[in-house]
Amino acid sequence: MQFEDLRLIEPLLQAIRAKGYDTPTPIQKQAIPHLLEGEDMFGCAQTGTGKTAAFALPVLQKLHHYVAASKNHKGGRRKQFRPIRAMILTPTRELAAQVAENFHNYGCHTGLRHTVIFGGVRQTPQVRALRKGVDVLVATPGRLLDLMNQGIISLADVEMFVLDEADRMLDMGFIHDIRKVIKQLPQQRQTLMFSATMPREIRKLADTILKNPVTVKTTPEKTTAAENIAQSLYFVESTGKTKLLERHLKESQVKRAIVFTRTKHRANKVTKQLNHSRISAEAFHSNKTQNARTRALESFKKGSVSVLVASDMAARGIDVDNISHVFNYDLPNEAETYVHRIGRTGRAGASGEAISFCSNDEHKALRDIEKLLGGPIPVQGDSP
Ligand code: AMP
Repeated sequence: MQFEDLRLIEPLLQAIRAKGYDTPTPIQKQAIPHLLEGEDMFGCAQTGTGKTAAFALPVLQKLHHYVAASKNHKGGRRKQFRPIRAMILTPTRELAAQVAENFHNYGCHTGLRHTVIFGGVRQTPQVRALRKGVDVLVATPGRLLDLMNQGIISLADVEMFVLDEADRMLDMGFIHDIRKVIKQLPQQRQTLMFSATMPREIRKLADTILKNPVTVKTTPEKTTAAENIAQSLYFVESTGKTKLLERHLKESQVKRAIVFTRTKHRANKVTKQLNHSRISAEAFHSNKTQNARTRALESFKKGSVSVLVASDMAARGIDVDNISHVFNYDLPNEAETYVHRIGRTGRAGASGEAISFCSNDEHKALRDIEKLLGGPIPVQGDSP
């Protein structure tokens, strides 16, 4: 199946061709026809599956029809105020920025306007963009509610609402904020909800906000992850982890690596230790200011910093190519997170290495991960 078969309009097909995509991903094939029909949707999909385009393309197509129609009226559309007609809510600033970038890329020939708002930075430029009028708003919950309370944002005209990474939203304690936002949305709307996992609370939330939703699911990442990512495991004392990490970073073919730690505090500590050993590393987590996070990510993308030490929450929004290695300095408590983490390497068909450290107190986490993977991770050694 080609993108043309999905009945997408030429301005979108043009943008897709410019991105170099050949064929739609499974979630795109499944989701796009239903979304163009106006149906609600529950999508069980992780990042890396092409889910952003799966919702962004139909959103743009549906809004474009309206813009095109009103342009034909006398006076054009330029002078009219443009209410927000599609809103995408995401848990983190990085993901919001990434989703907005997708709208920018796919929507460049549609004449539609979008903007992105999130906390941690001054609101003035965001307010200025909003005042010009936008068709699509990408937002994180805190700043959105803040600007709604100030009377700067109205959701009264929203026709399409996307709740992205809903499980992460709940983990981050955003459920009350989400409820407040939903109360302000018109009853008559199309709602899409995406979540990598389906715990009970997510199903409950889906039941309250979706109407007769179509459910789409993608193949779990584990099948794709296993093929081109070489996984290995070291049993190590927790006090020996940094030394082992340094050895790998200095000796092996590490070009660009992400190191995952369990907490933000540990991310800071490991970064300091690496810098002390003359390894260029930056910490990346949600306690950092937005500017510091943007700077760290830019340096990492450019290659002036080769190691990013991240907590899971921040890592959700990292979409950087050519990451040669992922280190699980600490094993995650949720097995799915392991799959998500190692999926940061080996993207777009490239090969990658995922190296995990397991200390005495992490055996239960390891068992859960191996159960999900359907087999053991090859053990490489016991200590540095
Ligand atoms: P996402 O799951 O939305 O974060 O997308 C993961 C990556 O896949 C992004 O870098 C997209 O640019 C890319 N992508 C999305 N759709 C396609 C496609 N049909 N073909 C190739 N790459 C794609």
